[in-house]
Parts: sequence; C-alpha cells; structure tokens
Amino acid sequence: MSRYIRKDLVCRPKDQGGLGLDTLETCNLALLSKWFWKFLSFPTALWRRIIVGLHGLEQPPNWVKSGNRLPGVWSNIVKIEKVLFKKNVRLKELLVFDGVKWVWTKSPDSMFSISSIRKTIGYGPYPDGPPHISWIDFVPSKVNILLWRAQLGRLPTMECLVKRNVPVGSLQCPVCNECNESVDHIFTGCRVANEVWATVSKWCGIPPIICFSVKDLTALHSHIQGGRTKAKMIQAVVHTACWILWNARNNMVFRNKKIKAETLFFEIQSTSFFWVSHRLKKERLEWGAWCNFNFLM
Ligand SMILES: [Zn+2]
Repeated sequence: MSRYIRKDLVCRPKDQGGLGLDTLETCNLALLSKWFWKFLSFPTALWRRIIVGLHGLEQPPNWVKSGNRLPGVWSNIVKIEKVLFKKNVRLKELLVFDGVKWVWTKSPDSMFSISSIRKTIGYGPYPDGPPHISWIDFVPSKVNILLWRAQLGRLPTMECLVKRNVPVGSLQCPVCNECNESVDHIFTGCRVANEVWATVSKWCGIPPIICFSVKDLTALHSHIQGGRTKAKMIQAVVHTACWILWNARNNMVFRNKKIKAETLFFEIQSTSFFWVSHRLKKERLEWGAWCNFNFLM
C-alpha cells in the first residue's frame, strides 16, 4: 500500500481523511510532550522538585525550563517544544493555567491526552480535499481501508497502473471489456457491479442504488430511512459488496475465474451476515431474518 499512498496521508487521523496510523516520530513526540503536562500539574512531586533544583523555572507562570548547560534527558525533553512548534503545535498556548490548575485546551475534560496531541500535530492541507469516508464498524478494517483507498483512487486498476508506467496491455475493464478500468468503473459503472447493486437494493428493500462514484457509495447510509442501525447495516452490505467485487475482479485477472453476478450476490449475503452478526453487541441476528432483511433493531 505504501507504494500507492503517501505516508502523510496514511498517518493522518481518521477525521482528517487518513487511516489514523502513527509514525514512530509522532508517537514519540506525543509521549514526550506529556512530561510538560506532568511537570505543570504536579508541583509537589519529588522528581519535579529535583528538576527545578537543577534547571530552574521560567517565570511567569512557572513554565518548564531547561538549564542548557546541563545535558541530559530533561534538556532533550524540553527541546520537544520547539520541534512541536514547527509542526504547528504550540504547547504554551494549549496548556493554560486557569488560576487553579493547568488545562489542556484540546480535550473537553481539560485533561491532557496522548491521542488529542497526536490529532493536533498538523499534516498541512489535504491534496484534492480529504475523502469523506464513514468507517463502518460492522465490517473488518480491511474493508474500510479498501474503500478509503478507492476514494483516493489508489487501487491498482488498469488506469492507475498505466499512470505509474506499468505495462498492462489493454486499459479496458477485464470484466466487461466495455470501458477503461477505473476505480469508479469497477464499483459503479461496470455491468456486473450494476447487476449486483440492483439485487442488493431489492434485497435490502431500498430504492435502486444509482451511484456514479465510490464517494456516492460510501455516503449511501446518509440517505437511508428507518433508523441508524438499519442504515449502518445497509452500508455494511455496500462495503461488503465492494470487497467481493474487488476480489472477484482480482480472481478473474490473476486466476482466470469467471464472474457471475448471481454468485457474487450470495457471497455478499453470507459474508455480510457473518461480519455483521459477529459484531452486534447485544442483538442476535438470525440467518432467515437476514435473508429477508427483516429484523427489529
Ligand atoms: Zn467493466
């Protein structure tokens, strides 16, 4: 995947369009910056009194200080502030003294958290706007990641491979041989995909799924009537269908296996049942009810 997607896109938080994976550097910066919070929040701690004795305090308001002439771990920790400043994280502005205690302004409960500072570390503007993907917890992460990659146009379709100067012979979709194979074509334009969406919408009892891009597919749940859980389940089915379509395409290209929309539909039905039923917390899902898409949640 790293060959297709830049590291900074992968490492962004999910709400900024990334996968929320940490680099070792970000993780290290976040963990070290917690010492600033601890230093300010525990004024009577023995270790802090030793640090103050060695390095002194920056006045006011008793901010963290390093005696530059004293090498050691603490001097290295204090340098983190300048490193974070270059990444648009201003610790001196984010940690505010309210007269009683130190407040971490990035958390609703005022408490410092590693996850909040990780999210604060800036990654700069997103090229072409971030993908608006809903992470569906009824399906495995690999399925959400497939849709995330598809929205970024980072799947190795014939079009993408040609852009990277990979010799592929023909640009045409190997499934239908009617159009160039792009990400949007595989999931929304291809003849087989359209047959699958027609069967899925009939099964789920929703209006026909007419989408022109992967972005439309991932936003489908926002147009579904009948409650949040039902909408999430239908979106889980759509995500599963994309996973099955992509795998079927790969099986055709690499293993010469034929694709039949009818077979794909049964695979979508059974795989989505397996994934959703194992991820429901309290409710029990029966196979019969799933086949009729008729259940109370
Ligand atoms: Zn096609």
